[in-house]
Amino acid sequence: MPASPPNPPVPSPRNPAALTPAASTPATLLPARLGAADIAALTRDIRSRAGATIAVITPFTGELLHDLPVSRVSDVQEAYTRARLAQLAWARAGFTHRRAVLLRAHDLILERTELLLDIVQAESGKTRGQAFEEVVQAAGATRYNAIAAGRVLRGDRRSSALPLVITTRVRYRPKGTVGVITPWNYPLSLGAMDVAPALAAGCAVVQKADDQGALSILALRRAFIDAGVPEALWSVVTGDGPEIGGAVTDAADYICFTGSTATGRTIAAQAAGNLTGVSLELGGNNPLIVLDDADPARAAADAATACFTAMGQLCVSIERIYVQRGVADAFLREFVAVTRALVSGAAYDYSTDVGSLTSQAQLDRVSGQVADAVAAGAVLEAGGRARPDLGPYFYEPTVLTGVTAEMECFASETFGPVVAVSVVDTEQEAILAANDSDYGLNASVFSGSVRRALRVAAGIEAGSVNINEGYRGSLSSVAAPMGGVKQSGLGRRNGPEGLLRFVEPVTISRATGILQLPRTGRDFERLAGPMLLLSAALKGLRRP
Ligand code: NAD
Repeated sequence: MPASPPNPPVPSPRNPAALTPAASTPATLLPARLGAADIAALTRDIRSRAGATIAVITPFTGELLHDLPVSRVSDVQEAYTRARLAQLAWARAGFTHRRAVLLRAHDLILERTELLLDIVQAESGKTRGQAFEEVVQAAGATRYNAIAAGRVLRGDRRSSALPLVITTRVRYRPKGTVGVITPWNYPLSLGAMDVAPALAAGCAVVQKADDQGALSILALRRAFIDAGVPEALWSVVTGDGPEIGGAVTDAADYICFTGSTATGRTIAAQAAGNLTGVSLELGGNNPLIVLDDADPARAAADAATACFTAMGQLCVSIERIYVQRGVADAFLREFVAVTRALVSGAAYDYSTDVGSLTSQAQLDRVSGQVADAVAAGAVLEAGGRARPDLGPYFYEPTVLTGVTAEMECFASETFGPVVAVSVVDTEQEAILAANDSDYGLNASVFSGSVRRALRVAAGIEAGSVNINEGYRGSLSSVAAPMGGVKQSGLGRRNGPEGLLRFVEPVTISRATGILQLPRTGRDFERLAGPMLLLSAALKGLRRP
């Protein structure tokens, strides 16, 4: 990479006067498909009556992307009123209808891939490849939930205490109108992973988008509306987190929150006041273990993808690597070489490997944590510099060694392209180090032996463990649950677990009339003996 020139002044949405309209950006830095009219057509779908807007920048250049309409609390309340009415008909429409609509939405997502890629890149500063993963993930989540909902939520028969005398079934009733609160880093795929199962289960959705991810969510919603989802069934609101997100939380029948652990705690406390259920998908400080029988070159190449995708602004990306001593030198050499070779830049095509951080706040956080670590004695093996020559928020993928507990990046989530590599002697030491965190979202194990990797995986406290992969195995497996333990969250999205969040189980038991249940003391006296015999017989037959 060429040497970095000095930092130019960086425009900021807090200082809109300093922002230059996107029209003046070089053609290569704003995709042709995303004109002002397309953006206006999308933002018209936001529930916002007041006419207030907030400036949203495009991270590749720091210039104004658009003025986002913001909602008021009354817009949120109106969205809930409309959604509750629409939900009644949607729930009655049944699984077959909902499945057909959602599968059409899946097809429209695929048809609109190029436009969606442009929008995701323009809002996030991701590379085309990383935006492509988001689109594929959104389509996969939509397809899975469309197809699986009928099977998972059909309801079933359960054993009763008195077979033939009582029959029992469980059926699932949609919870109603769900509040979905989504962060800026993966709005398209996270939106689909929460909204598609809610709709498939028969719920309505009021979604609070982050300013920096609203266009991605609106474009996803458009695909669903064009596929046949009623407009009122899925509303999008925008604006201040505590005010508008707070109003979404207050009125919801269930809350799906994705974001930081600090905000997750606030939302859990607020939801507790209404006894509303929550799923909380929160932060991580995810470890990757390289055992001494792993191929160091392959592990290094995969680890770089796991650390630096979306510039590390991905909840499941890797921030800590523990490598066993026997392979440590070879791994670190390869890892540093792969990291330095990553092509960084702003491009609406597949010519780059890493993109930009998304905001000035992210750049400040990442450069602050690296400076703190280096000042306290950590060694910079690669990266460690901002790259204003590429764009205002670009930062080099960074590898540190010698990170210790007093450094900020040791225990907190950096949420950036920074990874600390440490050497360990044994498997057990690697497991203890991996678990030495308040978080427990994702982990990864590299080994030449599947049996060994599985043994290590079994000791790790995390919601997902990937073997010989960083995060993509579990993240792309939308039929399997995704979520965290410890401070990384509560509940799960994806898989049957993700669908079951959106329904209330209702137990329906029926007296068949074959035998009258005891009512009086006499009845109990007569039936006590046979009933005790029946209990013993059921245990003998291993009937629950
Ligand atoms: P954040 O918590 O600041 O904001 C997330 C969303 O919550 C935004 O839409 C925001 O406007 C809204 N919000 C803020 N305060 C609120 C409040 N009091 N009530 C209701 N809503 C409120 O998080 P962020 O910085 O946007 O996102 C980054 C964080 O998200 C990281 O910690 C990352 O690990 C986490 N994340 C987790 C997952 C996961 O699946 N576990 C996925 C993506 C991101």
